Amino acid sequence: MSVYVVGHKSPDTDSVTAAIAYAELMKAKGEDYIACINGDPNPETKMVLDKFGAAAPTKLSDATGKKIALVDHSDLAQAPDNLSAGEVVAVVDHHKIGDVTTNNPIFFCAMPVGCTGTVLKVLYDLEGVKIQPSVAGMMLAAILSDTVNFKSPTCTDADKKAVAELKTIAGVTDTDGLFMEMLKAKSAVAGVPPMDLLDRDYKDFDMKGKKVGVGQLELAALDQVADMRDALMGAMKEKKAGGRHSVLLMLTDVVKEGTDLMVISDEPALIESAFNSKLAGNSMWIPGMMSRKKQTIPNLQKAFGC
Ligand code: MG
Ligand code: MG
Ligand code: MG
Repeated sequence: MSVYVVGHKSPDTDSVTAAIAYAELMKAKGEDYIACINGDPNPETKMVLDKFGAAAPTKLSDATGKKIALVDHSDLAQAPDNLSAGEVVAVVDHHKIGDVTTNNPIFFCAMPVGCTGTVLKVLYDLEGVKIQPSVAGMMLAAILSDTVNFKSPTCTDADKKAVAELKTIAGVTDTDGLFMEMLKAKSAVAGVPPMDLLDRDYKDFDMKGKKVGVGQLELAALDQVADMRDALMGAMKEKKAGGRHSVLLMLTDVVKEGTDLMVISDEPALIESAFNSKLAGNSMWIPGMMSRKKQTIPNLQKAFGC
């Protein structure tokens, strides 16, 4: 029986390339693993797949009756639907451990590093499996993306070491150039419907029984969305109407290294307290905020009393 490898909903580059890289690793070991994607590839991921000559993985949104390997998440809210009607056989991740549970022992590998690609590099090395150059290129791109070219507080020495080794395998000489190419692709916002922008890198979280959604747009400059703020807030309101306590959108300026945080909430004061800041209109500038995982979510959890 095939095992379907899949990353989180609203897939990012790591979720897609980790599914490919893990499936390739298991195939090299003689196992029947199939890389999947839960959603559509975002513009950055499309660019990365094109550049390294890979096809987009098979779509998978429902786990019913399937063996599943999760990469880049272990939260039910981000996993394929009906996960309990399937069987999770492996998790490879770099986030906090989520709420996925299993009836049987499984392969579970999570490391506190900047990217699933880095965890996979360690697993390839452990297994003594050679990484194909195109797969190495995609893993490298994922690490640059997740660590924001090493600027994110989530970045570790292990990520830098993985990049140094992967670039040789992939034959990529200029990783800054690759990052800028990816940033250009991902921050292209003109003409994109606001809900698509909000959904581009969006996750729902359970905060003490309250559903909180957090999206992130990484931009080369905040100007890029200056005339779209009302439209983005409209999309956030629509999203909030779907039973959410709060919807946040991180407009992250990767050059200035900070985030303009757009907020719509039942309790705006609670969100303000989470970030020790005050909303001006419906947003607040938070210097140094780059990472949803390491900065935004832990602060929200503290404020919500999780
Ligand atoms: Mg991810
Ligand atoms: Mg990741
Ligand atoms: Mg990310």
